[in-house]
Amino acid sequence: MSDPVGAEVRARALALPVAEWWRAETVAPGVTKIVEPHLDPLLQANLWLVEGSERDMLIDSGMGVGRLAPFVDGLRDASRPLVHVLSHAHIDHMGGSWEFDTRLIHPAEAADLEKTDSGLATLFRDEIPQAMRDGFAAEGYRPLPDLLIDARPFEAFDPSAYRLTPAPATGLLGEGDRVELGSRGFTVIHLPGHSAGGIGLLDEADGTLFSGDAIYDGPLLPIGVMSDYLVTLERLARLSVSVVHGGHDASFGQERMREICADYLGRWG
Ligand SMILES: [Zn+2]
Ligand SMILES: [Zn+2]
Repeated sequence: MSDPVGAEVRARALALPVAEWWRAETVAPGVTKIVEPHLDPLLQANLWLVEGSERDMLIDSGMGVGRLAPFVDGLRDASRPLVHVLSHAHIDHMGGSWEFDTRLIHPAEAADLEKTDSGLATLFRDEIPQAMRDGFAAEGYRPLPDLLIDARPFEAFDPSAYRLTPAPATGLLGEGDRVELGSRGFTVIHLPGHSAGGIGLLDEADGTLFSGDAIYDGPLLPIGVMSDYLVTLERLARLSVSVVHGGHDASFGQERMREICADYLGRWG
């Protein structure tokens, strides 16, 4: 079978400069946003490190291009245990999960952590199925460049050798479960629609919500069941929050969350 990418593009990928793969930004006391600035914006998810008095929580793990665990440990007191929670099992949120000892996810997506065959498990546009690319374009994403990275994480990294590493779940999280960090804790809320097992993590004490891809301030993707997504958006519109840290794009507050919910309920409902 002929290579859909082509030798010229693969050579260009291999010649990309090496750069610091991760960027971290403290957004609130004990809350750090971690991103992969050298990925195409479509694949650039937000990872969240939340520090507690007894243990820390890392939500999501990016694409699995650069090594994540050493970077995360450099941001925190690495003598504390780290609990790794997945908002859902899409590749831009789970690629680095194999690096961590605990991997907690909703039961509806636990099996997806063992897969390696996501259509997006590539750094080359022309290896992404056309129907998937058309779907992103229809939801308002700009056309993809032929290379989905503009740097490499280390000298020996060959973009053509990039694969998704399976990372079986070590535990399950469902509606109403708690993730306790000591000085603060989070309640799991099940938010299906973008995906079947999408979860949010809500600290009712201060109104902080980590929402995964159920809601963020950019084009939402109804990859799961639409009727579930409408129920999720209605639930989010009623939820009392102070700040929402989503799986993509910038964080926002209660009023903006209600606007986004109303917008999509109007479009999809
Ligand atoms: Zn995502
Ligand atoms: Zn997703």
